[in-house]
Amino acid sequence: MTRFIFITGGVVSSLGKGLSAAALGALLQARGFKVRLRKLDPYLNVDPGTMSPYQHGEVYVTDDGAETDLDLGHYERFTGVPARRSDSVTTGRIYQTVIHRERRGEYLGATVQVIPHVTDAIKEFIAAGLDGDEDFVLCEIGGTVGDIEGLPFLEAIRQMGNELGRARTLYIHLTLVPYIASAGELKTKPTQHSVKELLGLGIQPDILLCRMDRALDSNQRKKIALFCNVHERRVIPALDVDTIYQVPVSYHLEGFDRAVCDHFGLDVGEPPLKRWTDIVQRLRRPEGEVKIAVVGKYTHLQDSYKSLGEALTHGGIANNVRVDLDWIDSEVFEKPGAVQHLEGVHGILVPGGFGERGAEGKIEAARFAREHRVPYFGICFGMQMAVIEAARHLADLPGANSTEFGPCQDPVIGLMTEWLRGNALERRAAGDDLGGTMRLGAYDAMLAEHSKVRAIYGKSRISERHRHRYEVNINYKDRLEAAGMKFSGMSPDGELPEIVEIENHPWFLGVQFHPELKSKPFEPHPLFTDFIRAARDQSRLV
Ligand code: GLN
Repeated sequence: MTRFIFITGGVVSSLGKGLSAAALGALLQARGFKVRLRKLDPYLNVDPGTMSPYQHGEVYVTDDGAETDLDLGHYERFTGVPARRSDSVTTGRIYQTVIHRERRGEYLGATVQVIPHVTDAIKEFIAAGLDGDEDFVLCEIGGTVGDIEGLPFLEAIRQMGNELGRARTLYIHLTLVPYIASAGELKTKPTQHSVKELLGLGIQPDILLCRMDRALDSNQRKKIALFCNVHERRVIPALDVDTIYQVPVSYHLEGFDRAVCDHFGLDVGEPPLKRWTDIVQRLRRPEGEVKIAVVGKYTHLQDSYKSLGEALTHGGIANNVRVDLDWIDSEVFEKPGAVQHLEGVHGILVPGGFGERGAEGKIEAARFAREHRVPYFGICFGMQMAVIEAARHLADLPGANSTEFGPCQDPVIGLMTEWLRGNALERRAAGDDLGGTMRLGAYDAMLAEHSKVRAIYGKSRISERHRHRYEVNINYKDRLEAAGMKFSGMSPDGELPEIVEIENHPWFLGVQFHPELKSKPFEPHPLFTDFIRAARDQSRLV
């Protein structure tokens, strides 16, 4: 029997609903249940693919090629369950579905309305694309209770509670209990008001998860319980923690997953949480520290690189070192001599990115890493910049560039339509991944024998997630290889370079895909594990 758990947020945004959902998913999974996590976002964009990273942080990509909210990354990292397109929906997509149906005449002359047509489409989505054997589907509702956009979602989940009954549905409300310094007290009133707002929409929360920066005393807990009509044991304090991987452990100690099981009448024992406590131990007591420069464009908003930051932390867990990240805006390298910012770092990572601004700075960072023998990891755009750098300075092609920035003399990076001809182009067109549209989702790559990547992965065929429009131009392969940049990973048809590496360098890799999307704390991605290992070796040299 599949049960539905709905997670709403109140008082303010940014309380960490996504992490709370992910942590509960992990706890239920540790208790032996099969879980799936979903996110319902109230904005009108059909998906976050078109949103600026400044607006919405990272765009998380699933194996099946959906561009989704970054919370899906938390879900996947915490539960290991690969997210799917059907796990993310927005108001934009719901309305698009409803309007298409209306245009096709599927509503048979009815007046199409928010209730029931939009709410029906939301309910369909919540229950669609499941395997059927899930014990729990956790649905996070984006935004904050009280937002106009969120109303159809709240109405839909209210209806589901009625239709499926309380034995199959549970409402969790995440609120803030702020500490007011002048009163010297935690204040419960915002929580009371937020719950009133929910009650006004017909939803009585079953569990309150209360974010606070200090412990609640028993009187305040009683007060919340009384005014919000929730049992005291179901008022769960959620205190700030030093690492996000402590969240499942802390929630468990506060009785969160027990309260969920009690609601459903599930009489189960204690979940084994050793894998979480082990990770936290390693993070708290590292044996050393490495300093990694992340040279990007959106560096002042680290949510834009959420999965990347986590994957680097995972690499640190695997090597027992703390990973100290130095976020550097690549534009600083466009002034003469500024590459000295990189002296003393143990590794340089250039992440994914779009557009010309800051590109020359990234090329300079790649050059510094190559010439100074500092471990370099180029991801997507960071690989493309490393290829341009090698073309210009190793292969004697000073006019090398990417056509993403306009026409150039040697388009070492470009759209595949610019060079694929005849059969190869037709094959790719049939596969619907023509240049000019994004290559999104999982694609396989074949790894060359005797290459560094082959040794790192320990296998010859891999699958990784992509999100890019431009490709390394296969026509420059021979020239770049002769100059020392090997094409060590290729698409199975041999047309698209997936991985490049520089020989005779401690660690210099560029990958066209986003390995950070698949890294997990208890299963660090091999490329991040090995990059941090190389950085650790470097830290012993400098
Ligand atoms: N802008 C580049 C492209 O579209 C790289 C994209 C990325 O780094 N995700 O190919």
